[in-house]
Amino acid sequence: MRSLIVTLDGPAGSGKSTVARLLARRLDLEFLDTGAMYRGLTALCLDHGVDPGGEPKPIVALAEAHPLRFDWSQNPPRLYAGDLDITGRLRDEDVTENVSALASLTPVRQVLVRTQQEIGQEHVGLVTEGRDQGSVVFPKAQVKFYLDAQPHVRAKRRAQQLRDAGKPADEKKILEKIMARDERDSTRTHGPLICPDDAERIDTTDMSLEEVVDLLERKVNERVDMGDASRAGQEASS
Ligand code: C5P
Repeated sequence: MRSLIVTLDGPAGSGKSTVARLLARRLDLEFLDTGAMYRGLTALCLDHGVDPGGEPKPIVALAEAHPLRFDWSQNPPRLYAGDLDITGRLRDEDVTENVSALASLTPVRQVLVRTQQEIGQEHVGLVTEGRDQGSVVFPKAQVKFYLDAQPHVRAKRRAQQLRDAGKPADEKKILEKIMARDERDSTRTHGPLICPDDAERIDTTDMSLEEVVDLLERKVNERVDMGDASRAGQEASS
């Protein structure tokens, strides 16, 4: 596997997870879903009677007692807390409602950022997605993207995902919740949702999933070829 980190940041419902998973497969890289880690820790809190938006100490203690780890032999990787497979719990409504409160707690972010950086050291070929991947977690990543789309389109996509999973979906309510989560994620002090200066912003409002993945694959390959060419040029002239 080649040594390459591609970061994909962006707001809720921008399609990052699906795009990152498909892009990783195309580029023969691994896929790191950091939202799943914040969701996993939120689920642990809710299931252990700990307030996910409250005191950070018991939350950090839970994270230490039940370390989050991915099973990379599965595609997409499954998430475990200790020995328990919690993948099925990640998209539950109560988890989605509470996750950004937990994600605004600095000590909690510090634990998860450290875990993500350790994963990056062990898995050198990664497409990683979240809110702070290009800005805080992997500032030296070779290729950075920021995916965005008009809020009503993001709500529509989320609603479709829910319907596809056989769940009811009210687009108007989803839109309100997406906007509230974006606001909380963008205004926190540590690791807020931002487009890093060196990231390329891609507006996917009028693009299909296939078009987004094709575009990003082309851009990553161009960047990697350019990097190879400039390294070869430097070697030739030294
Ligand atoms: O991407 P996803 O919707 O699964 O993320 C869930 C929540 O986790 C986000 O709304 C955000 O509050 C938090 N998150 C974060 N930093 C990341 C990834 C996710 O704060 N790198």
